[in-house]
Amino acid sequence: MLMNRRTSLLGLVTLASSGVTSCSLVQRAGWVDAPEPVVDPRRRVPATPAAIEAPAAGMGMGVAVPGRIVGPTRVAYSSCRVPGRYVALTFDDGPDPQDTPRLLTLLGERNVKATFFVIGRNVRAFPRIVERTHAEGHELANHSMTHPTLSKLGDAAVAREINGCSEAISGVLGGHRPQVFRPPYGAFSARQKEWAHQEFGLPSILWSVDPQDWKIRNSEHVSRTLIQGAGSGGILLAHDIHPTTVAAMPTVVDTLLERGFQFVTMGQLINMEIRAAGSASALLRFTAGSM
Ligand SMILES: [Zn+2]
Repeated sequence: MLMNRRTSLLGLVTLASSGVTSCSLVQRAGWVDAPEPVVDPRRRVPATPAAIEAPAAGMGMGVAVPGRIVGPTRVAYSSCRVPGRYVALTFDDGPDPQDTPRLLTLLGERNVKATFFVIGRNVRAFPRIVERTHAEGHELANHSMTHPTLSKLGDAAVAREINGCSEAISGVLGGHRPQVFRPPYGAFSARQKEWAHQEFGLPSILWSVDPQDWKIRNSEHVSRTLIQGAGSGGILLAHDIHPTTVAAMPTVVDTLLERGFQFVTMGQLINMEIRAAGSASALLRFTAGSM
């Protein structure tokens, strides 16, 4: 009971500090003791919780994009500290004219949202696929313009790579710019991560599970590695340019749903960490103040 009282009081603390409406209060208070999600794919319960984020205003294409980041980010993430079995499924190097649409269809059938770290030159080549990805509620993210090894380049060249990709995405999506960045090969020095975060406001997103699907073109290996590696707040790495990877995804998604995981976009996952940290510090303040 004490926890329940604290939960509701915490909601008031959050409400008072953020000025949110009473409608949001119920959802935010729930963050403190969020129950483990119960998801049964046979009942087609939405696999990505739409209510996590309020729709973002002013996004391009008239689509409500979940997961606009609501607070200060860390410089880099390989996972997020979140209260529950949430994972981000991320796909690099697309869009691909064959594999990406097939992947979008199977994700759509399961109501699962993912994050696509696209290469700018592919965005320019296949803009309709980028539009579809965005329209179906996935997050478009920056994976450079031409996929070089950025750790070998100077800041001016890296800036061109990052800006080129953001502008390609923004040009297709009516001004909607990516909010996270993944360096190709993960090759980005600590200094470069700090610089990119400061210069462009883009945190560098790495991963917690890597099935090396670009090298091991075996669906069973890909699905087993991703399933075994998935944990709370995990970031799963894959590439939507390999048929073997796309073929692995029904097993990955269905198995993780059966195990109680929910799939969220990178922005949603980062927001969960931001809010969990805010809730923890608010609870500490409340506890200290009531002693
Ligand atoms: Zn890549």
